[in-house]
Amino acid sequence: MKKETLTVELGERSYPIIIGDGLLQQAGPLLREAGLAPASKLLVVTDENVAPRYLQPLKAALEAAGYAVHSFVIGPGEQSKSLAVYEAVMTEAISAGLDRKSAILALGGGVVGDLAGFVAATYMRGIAFVQVPTTLLAHDSSVGGKVAINHPLGKNLIGAFHQPRLVLYDTSAIRTLPERERAAGFAEVLKHGLIADESFVSWLEANAEKLWQLDSELLSKAICRGCEVKASIVSADETEQNQRALLNLGHTFGHAFEALCEYSRLNHGEAISIGMCLAAKVAERIGVAQDGVYERTRQLLRQYQLPTEWPHALDPKDVLEVMKRDKKAVGGKLALVLPRAIGTVELFARVDEELVLTVMKEEAGA
Ligand code: ADP
Ligand code: ZN
Repeated sequence: MKKETLTVELGERSYPIIIGDGLLQQAGPLLREAGLAPASKLLVVTDENVAPRYLQPLKAALEAAGYAVHSFVIGPGEQSKSLAVYEAVMTEAISAGLDRKSAILALGGGVVGDLAGFVAATYMRGIAFVQVPTTLLAHDSSVGGKVAINHPLGKNLIGAFHQPRLVLYDTSAIRTLPERERAAGFAEVLKHGLIADESFVSWLEANAEKLWQLDSELLSKAICRGCEVKASIVSADETEQNQRALLNLGHTFGHAFEALCEYSRLNHGEAISIGMCLAAKVAERIGVAQDGVYERTRQLLRQYQLPTEWPHALDPKDVLEVMKRDKKAVGGKLALVLPRAIGTVELFARVDEELVLTVMKEEAGA
């Protein structure tokens, strides 16, 4: 079986991301290689959609390698990133007798990863954390070490940095993901190409059909390259302050769409897809982008079934208001990440908000 492995370089906290078809079955030996002794108890956190498909195979693989495995199933969706569910997982960890040598495994998407990661970060002041992503979007959250839960007053307000010990990415799990979630996951993969790697974008264009069909070898490569781009930016940020901001391509627009749709009609990937198109359009308008960047961005997103049109229920003025709050714009200027070319982006600290509004109004046909 073919496997891709990359290491996220973080000194003592460096960890491997292993990607391949059927890796769930090899979880036991892979955890051992990562330095987790079989004497230690494991707690697998997963959700109601993932558990019926993948919990038993993962448990069986771990038990065969001598681990004692407990599990806890949460409801699917963002509501589970709550203090109440956090307490319930903690209660399970304590009752199961997890100790400082134990590990918490997150089997699922970003929601499970954020919640289980925050439990791992805080249980007995922090124990080992292993991510077993089952969504494509989770390739993004598996690098960077951010874990969090929500407070009724805002998203991700209670959190920590806690790096996983290992990320085990079984690409076969992505086959059962609903199509809309698949597209949303590709949005962040495409974003990593658009930010940093023109040749990766060309490859994503040329292989769009097979990737959309989840060809396992190509998919492993795409996830691997996406993780590499993010990892290189995250590591660079320890010295260079602005690098990490580049990951926000499309996100200032996207977060505003999500907030105004009350996190329902558009999911995160769809919102940033439209946002990346707008960023390209703004960049062409102010003359910082090469010609054709907008059109090529739009075509690429469409190849992966992502929306690129203005969300018609929204008023551009409302979107601008939310964007200004999001990024604390000063004196009529917005800070936006814009493309210069395909594969090259830059943070522009002073973009004229009137111009941004004009572009949005054109897109909205208003
Ligand atoms: P992300 O933030 O990575 O998109 P979520 O945790 O929000 O992940 O998961 C998105 C939805 O997909 C949830 O309803 C989850 O239960 C479901 N899901 C996750 N992985 C799979 C899978 N491999 N097959 C089917 N459904 C899945
Ligand atoms: Zn994102």
